[in-house]
Amino acid sequence: MGPEPLRDDFTVDDFKALFRKRSGRLKPLLLNQEFIAGIGNIYADESCFIAKIDPRRPVDTLTEAELERLYHAIRQALNAGIMHKGASLDAVYRGGEFQNHFQAYGRTGEPCLNCGAEIQRIVLGGRSTHFCSRCQT
Ligand SMILES: [Zn+2]
Repeated sequence: MGPEPLRDDFTVDDFKALFRKRSGRLKPLLLNQEFIAGIGNIYADESCFIAKIDPRRPVDTLTEAELERLYHAIRQALNAGIMHKGASLDAVYRGGEFQNHFQAYGRTGEPCLNCGAEIQRIVLGGRSTHFCSRCQT
C-alpha cells in the first residue's frame, strides 16, 4: 500500500517524491493503491477538478506548482468527504451526503462551477471520469 494522504506526517515533498520516475496518465496513478492509498474514483475526479489539472495528463509533465496544488486538492477532497460523512454511492465512506457536494463527479453535462462549460465524461483506465476540459489543463 502507498502512503495515506491525510496523515499529518505526509508532506508535500513526500507527495512530489512519489512522482519521480513515474510515467502514465494522472488519474489511473491516483487510483493505484500501491502508489497512494485511499483515493477512490470519486475522490480522484474531485481532486483533479479542485487542482485544475486534466486527469489525462502524463504525470511526467506535471510541474512542481501543479503537484503542490494536487497535494492540497487531494487533502481537501478527502476532508470534504469525511465532513459530509461520505457519499452514498461510494465504496469507501458510505451513507453520507457528500454526493450533494460533488464538483465534477457525476455532473456530466452540467455547468462547471468555475467557468460554466459542460462537465465532460470519458472513460480513462477503465473508469468513468468527469472533468472540465476548459479549466482543467
Ligand atoms: Zn471549468
